[in-house]
Amino acid sequence: MTMILTRNIKEYCAERKAMLKTTIENNFSDFVKKPTLAVFQIGNVEASTRYIRNKKKDCEEVGINFEWYYYPEEITTKELVQEIKDMNDYVDGLIVQMPLPDHIDVTAIKLAIDPKKDVDGFHPNSMFEPCTPFGIVKYLIDGCDYDFKGKNVTIFGRSDIVGKPLAKMLTDLDATVTLCHSKTRNAWDHIPNADLIVSAVGKAGFLNCYPIHVPVIEVGINFDANGKLVGDCINTENRDVTPVPGGVGLLTRVALLENTVLAAQMRRVEDESRTDCSK
Ligand code: NAP
Repeated sequence: MTMILTRNIKEYCAERKAMLKTTIENNFSDFVKKPTLAVFQIGNVEASTRYIRNKKKDCEEVGINFEWYYYPEEITTKELVQEIKDMNDYVDGLIVQMPLPDHIDVTAIKLAIDPKKDVDGFHPNSMFEPCTPFGIVKYLIDGCDYDFKGKNVTIFGRSDIVGKPLAKMLTDLDATVTLCHSKTRNAWDHIPNADLIVSAVGKAGFLNCYPIHVPVIEVGINFDANGKLVGDCINTENRDVTPVPGGVGLLTRVALLENTVLAAQMRRVEDESRTDCSK
């Protein structure tokens, strides 16, 4: 089988981060003007703390100011919406770490974020692509010279943050997309005709790659019985599958940095044109 996913993702992400660092050094001259990302954490979910710590590390590496705001689990939707609205004007990017406590209205939270600051790409009018699909598509095109035109892509999982936006992006790139979900009948029938498969289900062992001879993008993140991080796929030896860990997670993290720098650039342009008009 021809291997398509040939570009090492760790190296590729390191290169992208080095490019971002240079962009920030060259375009954002002083501390005040440097891009700023605010992350809201609600409650004490250990995985969320770990994810936010990684985001902080990434931001520090490239020169983005990172602001970490913590709120107790008991905060109400109304209070949190107000906190977000109060913050919107002061930062370039604002994200609320998911998952949220059950009593919080997730839709209200997503809608409270200014679409120009919504670097996670969760608001329906966000100026940004959601990070995971954006990271995947960019890696395939820029890193692997993959041409989606005319390709058949089967995606497992139709969430608003992965499957659906990815299906739209790939359709716009002239791929033919089959979007499978838990109600799809005979989902495996959509494998033989696929040129590329994406698994974004979140079930360890969901996809047996032994009979699969096309590239597979592993989005799923799960923990096995020993607490080890694993994807959705099994039998990946000698198959063209992105690794877990060290795969899509890294692409998602770089995409967040790129969205934040873009948000900062757009905001600076807006600020300058406002200043020019007032002269
Ligand atoms: P989600 O909201 O839980 O959605 C899971 C999707 O899988 C749903 O659309 C569900 O269908 C579908 N599904 C369930 N069983 C299926 C089956 N047997 N056949 C086909 N589809 C099936 O998940 P998500 O937020 O998109 O996340 C999916 C996984 O990716 C999770 O493990 C998550 O941790 C991981 N993830 C990783 C990254 C990263 O950076 N690496 C980023 C985001 C997510 P229904 O819609 O019918 O319920």
